[in-house]
Amino acid sequence: MDQDIPEFKSQLRLESALYVQNGLQWVSAASLLLLAAITLNWRLNEIGPADWGFFMAVLPLAFICLLGAMFLGHGAVHPYSRWLLLVFLMLLVWCWLLFIAELLQVAPQSIAAMEAVADILVLLLMMGLFPDALMIAAGQVPLVCFICLSRYQSMPENLAFPLSKFICLLVIIAVGQQVLFSWFSRAIAGSVEKQKLLKQFRRLALVDGLTNLSNRRHLDELLKQEIRAAQRNGRPLCLLLLDIDYFKRLNDSLGHQAGDDCLVQVAALLSDAACRPRDLAARYGGEEFVLLLPETPLEGALAKAQSVAALLHQRNISHPDSPIADRVTASQGICQWQPGMDADALLQSCDRRLYRAKGQGRNCIIVSG
Ligand code: GH3
Ligand code: MG
Ligand code: MG
Repeated sequence: MDQDIPEFKSQLRLESALYVQNGLQWVSAASLLLLAAITLNWRLNEIGPADWGFFMAVLPLAFICLLGAMFLGHGAVHPYSRWLLLVFLMLLVWCWLLFIAELLQVAPQSIAAMEAVADILVLLLMMGLFPDALMIAAGQVPLVCFICLSRYQSMPENLAFPLSKFICLLVIIAVGQQVLFSWFSRAIAGSVEKQKLLKQFRRLALVDGLTNLSNRRHLDELLKQEIRAAQRNGRPLCLLLLDIDYFKRLNDSLGHQAGDDCLVQVAALLSDAACRPRDLAARYGGEEFVLLLPETPLEGALAKAQSVAALLHQRNISHPDSPIADRVTASQGICQWQPGMDADALLQSCDRRLYRAKGQGRNCIIVSG
């Protein structure tokens, strides 16, 4: 899969944004759990006093975690959401730093425990935000800096430990982000490729290769569907079957390539004629075409057939060996669906009328009988 193609890039952007949105919700929920565990430990082990300062540090953090856990991760990605999420992340990290600072002030001996908390947070942010390097940096760097500085302040004689930890963490974060992101990109590339293949298969299965109109299989599918709709809503449904006159002679006189070109032109004309959203133009087989016209009464279908005949006349496709005209013409049979008719019966009825049009000299439209 070529990772430079625009579909891949836009899909990667969208999936990354969705992942980060959900990831931040998950980080908020996990933060809340972590906060509850720390608070419980703090109280049970009576590490420090549960005074006003302690609650002032817990409350904003608990509030922001609750907010994120409840409201993030829902709905589609908004164009500004990355910046809103970034602001939210900064608030979350800032509240965590305030909380840790408050705890360290009350109980400086808990530096090792607070370091462990910061490490857990770094890990959480890595898992929740790895597709977005800016978010990772914005969330993790302040935490890492803060905790290494705190360690240095509590033990200024031992500079090597916070410094080496700082460097190691930065390297682990950068490499980890790259590794996770490359796996993520590969998964997206695989899914884009699969979607493309599915589209191609669907196209091959339902579209006629020469004319690009729907093929017989697609027509059969939609005809059954429209008959069910007509049965349900009682609206009229018409079918128009069109066959090019003396097409064999055109092939014989001008060659198969000219025959193919003629089919393509007639198909384009019918495709233009199928102008309502549910109208369908299809190649029925050989030089026969169908127009499926839902919510259309017989008069409407007749008008459509007349306009197709007029457009075909205007196109003036050459047919030097036609015994009835100086250009390509077509015969048409139209039928309106009646309750109790299935798809085969409707097609057969149209075919009978088309046969009669041929019998009546061709280049005409038969509506009844
Ligand atoms: P009619 O007016 O009675 O319909 O006569 P016709 O010659 O149009 O009908 P017939 O069934 O005798 O001949 C249809 C011809 O269409 C025969 C076949 O070779 C040709 N044909 C079918 N599919 C294609 C195609 O995809 N390309 C080309 N060039 N010719 C095709
Ligand atoms: Mg035919
Ligand atoms: Mg024909």
